[in-house]
Amino acid sequence: MSDLIQLTAAELSAKLTAGEVSAVEAAQAHLDRITAVDGELHAFLATDAEASLAAARAIDERRAAGEELGELAGVPLAIKDVLVTTDMPSTSGSKILEGYRSPFDATAVAKARAAGLVNIGKTNMDEFAMGSATENSAYGPTHNQWDRSRVPGGSGGGSAVAVGAFEAPLALGSDTGGSIRQPAALTGTVGAKPTYGGVSRYGAIALASSLDQIGPCARTVLDTALLHDVVAGHDAHDSTSLDHAWPSMAAAARSGADPTSLRGLRVGVVKQLMIDGVQPGVKARFDESLALLAAQGAEIVEIDAPHFEYAVAAYYLILPAEASSNLAKYDSVRFGLRVTPQGGGTVESVMSETRAAGFGAEVKRRIILGTYALSAGYYDAYYGSAQKVRTLIQRDFAAAFSQVDVIASPTAPTTAWALGTHGGDPMQDYLNDATTIPANLAGIPGLSLPIGTASEDGLPVGLQLMAPAFEDARLYRAGAAIESLITARDGAPFWAQAPSLAGAPTGKANA
Ligand code: GLN
Repeated sequence: MSDLIQLTAAELSAKLTAGEVSAVEAAQAHLDRITAVDGELHAFLATDAEASLAAARAIDERRAAGEELGELAGVPLAIKDVLVTTDMPSTSGSKILEGYRSPFDATAVAKARAAGLVNIGKTNMDEFAMGSATENSAYGPTHNQWDRSRVPGGSGGGSAVAVGAFEAPLALGSDTGGSIRQPAALTGTVGAKPTYGGVSRYGAIALASSLDQIGPCARTVLDTALLHDVVAGHDAHDSTSLDHAWPSMAAAARSGADPTSLRGLRVGVVKQLMIDGVQPGVKARFDESLALLAAQGAEIVEIDAPHFEYAVAAYYLILPAEASSNLAKYDSVRFGLRVTPQGGGTVESVMSETRAAGFGAEVKRRIILGTYALSAGYYDAYYGSAQKVRTLIQRDFAAAFSQVDVIASPTAPTTAWALGTHGGDPMQDYLNDATTIPANLAGIPGLSLPIGTASEDGLPVGLQLMAPAFEDARLYRAGAAIESLITARDGAPFWAQAPSLAGAPTGKANA
């Protein structure tokens, strides 16, 4: 395996700046890695070597001309297919958008390009970001790089595996109920869901607009922070994007690398997030990480959040309601697929046959649920009640943050499960997000980082940290401190322990 792909984004950017490596070499090394392993992992839906190399060449030329470039200029970036890009197709994992080319770049993508990052490919995802395993992709599942027979989590399994398997040092994702954090946990990588409105949603194919948030993925907390800094900020194209002077997340991560920064940090553990379904090996790693924090002088405080137990139920009314409205635009006229019945058909039959053929089962289930929840006579009972629960959850968080600086929980109650095992029972997928959904309902930031493997299956376990809205930097500071403690404990960074590094290109399932 080329040494270049094992560098963190921070290390690679230092070599690019020093002129030791060119952007073309960095792009080529990652494209070669994708060619070598992605046939088995399927983290990518689209790559375009010519487009990526042309973008890299342009960076090299600008550097050679003496232009002052951004810190990450020349670093490859994988982009979840939920974000529209002009240079490659954008499908959101759906057949209804097969081959769709956007006339513009999503703002997060445009910011990344302006910073000199090189689009290395579009990553696989559950159709319209609905799922927890990337098994709902219309283009087939992504495989976990730790064990190819396991799911990588979802909906952003492609972005998580892309960084975890060294196909890209950085990736963008979207998190509506956990789709950045939960795949990070299941693949042993790092992922952040920024404060709602922290990153523009313009050009992000909408799932549930009041919950969706674009965010960064990487192998280290610092790399995640570096990408966060690039994509954050106000955007006139997104009326919900915040006009806020964000501090540097990378500076916060760098200051956190010294674990003494944890002294006095008040860490809340929510009783209701330690649910019955938490796998023993996940619980053990979580408790161990609390002990590491306490040993550094952090204070662990038990928190009661009585309404969290209704979070999944409220989410699965609010999300389908908003999704049913957002997905109404796939009407066979404006985007993508059109199925014309034999003999021509009417406007209505073309529309319904297109939607029948273009949407998968989970998308149809949620459209039906959402349409029902919003229908006259049921609106108050379902959607209205769910919105009230949302307010109560926000109040639980406000009460918690009057006592603690951050909240910690396992990112997901389990490690990665075997592909195909949840088939036909969507509830099992839904419940895997019980720990991540509350942050989306409240609009607060969350970060997941690996804290070890579970003893029963040897698979990665993630720690989730949450902070009040606008306090994303606090997560990077604490996250980097915990990461350095885990590295010291294990004698190596967590990402270097993935079996994919030990010779076989795609993990122990190859052995
Ligand atoms: N797994 C959750 C769902 O299926 C979260 C999805 C997401 O964050 N996009 O809705």
